[in-house]
Amino acid sequence: MHKTSPIIVALDFSSDREAFALVDQLEPAMCRLKVGKALFTRCGPSLVKKLVDKNFDVFLDLKYHDIPNTVAQACAVAADLGVWMLNVHALGGEKMMQAAREATSDVDSPLLIAVTWLTSSGQAELDALGIKVTPQEMVSRLALMSQNAGLDGVVCSAQEAPMLRKVLNSHSLLVTPGIRLDDKAYSAVKQDDQCRVVTPEKAMNDGATYLVIGRPITQSDDPCKVLRTINNVIG
Ligand code: C5P
Repeated sequence: MHKTSPIIVALDFSSDREAFALVDQLEPAMCRLKVGKALFTRCGPSLVKKLVDKNFDVFLDLKYHDIPNTVAQACAVAADLGVWMLNVHALGGEKMMQAAREATSDVDSPLLIAVTWLTSSGQAELDALGIKVTPQEMVSRLALMSQNAGLDGVVCSAQEAPMLRKVLNSHSLLVTPGIRLDDKAYSAVKQDDQCRVVTPEKAMNDGATYLVIGRPITQSDDPCKVLRTINNVIG
């Protein structure tokens, strides 16, 4: 297997002991790794560097959202860690995203993507903000804004992938969480707190570039087996 698996395993752990109990079973050819706010807040840049030194592609999922100068500085520092991908909140606006892009525009800079409208938010949250559009229109508007700012793609629900494939350039990256397994071949079948779930096969067929998968792998009795099975199914 080459370093081309589209699976990004979400390391949603709160200690490096738990994270490495899983990571030590994995190889860079099997998956990429996502470090989010909890693990980063506990373990910091040293954990990210350890994963990079093990030759994993690391997606630093800190969803930066602040004034352009602050976000640009954060992105530049994150790039120095050697991560493969990082992200910002599209709601920070086009100028903020442009600043983030300018700070990560070297040939060896990480991929830079934007979170559009969180999948945990829907119409009620837009209404409460007085924003008179549907969640789909919001996602599409923010995704186009991130493309105008020169970003490489977006984090989105796999259910939004077909719509975004029509709206965005063909080379845009679509990184999709909310993946659940519904085939007997897998050892874990649970929806957890995700509402709108999509199987790995459907997400890839609908245009996803990378699949963010957490608990179906991390909480499985045999994470490597689940990972191998998904890689084979979508391979
Ligand atoms: O365990 P599970 O597969 O649900 O994990 C999904 C991962 O993707 C988590 O790290 C979660 O924070 C992240 N994520 C998400 N929905 C978004 C953005 C990120 O589930 N809209």
